[in-house]
Amino acid sequence: MIPYGRQDIIQEDIDAVIEVLNSDFLTQGPKVPLFEKTVATKVNVKHCLAVNSATSALHIACVALGLRQGDWLWTSPITFVASANCGLYCGAKIDFVDIDPKTYNLCPKALEAKLSVAEREGNLPKVLVAVHMCGQPCDMHKIHALSERYGFKIIEDASHAIGAKYLGESIGNCRYSDITVFSFHPVKIITTAEGGMALTNDSKLAEKMNLCRSHGVTRDEHLMTKESDGPWYYQQIDIGFNYRMTDLQAALGISQMKRLDDFIVRRQGIAERYDHLLKNLSVSLPCQNSDSRSSFHLYVIRLQLKKLQHTKKQVFEFLRRQDIGVNLHYIPVHTQPYFQKMGFKSNDFPEAEKYYEEAISLPIYHGMSDEQQNYIVKKIEEICS
Ligand SMILES: *Cc1c(COP(=O)(O)O)cnc(C)c1O
Repeated sequence: MIPYGRQDIIQEDIDAVIEVLNSDFLTQGPKVPLFEKTVATKVNVKHCLAVNSATSALHIACVALGLRQGDWLWTSPITFVASANCGLYCGAKIDFVDIDPKTYNLCPKALEAKLSVAEREGNLPKVLVAVHMCGQPCDMHKIHALSERYGFKIIEDASHAIGAKYLGESIGNCRYSDITVFSFHPVKIITTAEGGMALTNDSKLAEKMNLCRSHGVTRDEHLMTKESDGPWYYQQIDIGFNYRMTDLQAALGISQMKRLDDFIVRRQGIAERYDHLLKNLSVSLPCQNSDSRSSFHLYVIRLQLKKLQHTKKQVFEFLRRQDIGVNLHYIPVHTQPYFQKMGFKSNDFPEAEKYYEEAISLPIYHGMSDEQQNYIVKKIEEICS
């Protein structure tokens, strides 16, 4: 089976992890700060906090932004459930903004319209999670302008988008947001097995997230409520979790970061080839905004079902039978049973649901060969002509 995504691990990565296994620190050693510094330098941001998953990063981001019971968090319905669950962890209420059918990102016009209604009704969001779907940056300029007008905070869920560019700058620099989050799950662009990161330019937010990822405990005397009792001393000054990344993971991350640019170039090459090879078939191809460069975590096509003789399920099952690991990203979050219980109904976000009817993620990853890609295209031609 050709998977839809796959990690790229070379001997150097393995050696980096083994070096840590032979060292004094498996966790809380020198590798985590070094990984943070590596990413901070690469994307040009002041503070990076490595954690054990992007889900944890989203959670501590919401906590740091003061999200709590009675507040609203808005996000896109076409995302992984974690982009919404982080609000629920804080007791906040969740709502969604429908997508733009071309970019698959939350639609800035729909956001503007919904904000204006929410202002009248007195239920503006405290936090907006903007998801860079597939690695294509959202219209951050517009979203940022709206945040100034309506006073909400912005988290960029860039789980798909390390290595992507927006207006010539790296996603992760937080120019248009309060906090950005990366995921290092093996299907994402670079991996630490499990892992994530929260990035910010705001030192207060960084301090809060730092406490939050490690029990609310500090050894920093400046933060303590009284003078230290001695070299053993620490204080719990807040409530936190154990969301730390290990040094084993960070060593893998440092090693992977050396190949980030290669990974992106290869993914963009695969995407361009798909664009070229699929252009005459009855499928809509991902549109690339001219102001940005996608990292192409995913390559999602939409079937033009009216022109096809088959249903999406038939196309999907056919491709799986040919050992092509096509996938679906994502089932609209508001249609999940857990969210339906909160009162969301089908047809609440029609563009998201239409997307769900038509979307298929094609395989795209660093180690995929041109031959494999040709085979995938041939099979799509067979079923979609
Ligand atoms: C993968 C992903 C997450 C969660 O990442 P983990 O590191 O697995 O917790 C969150 N949001 C989006 C959009 C994702 O794709």
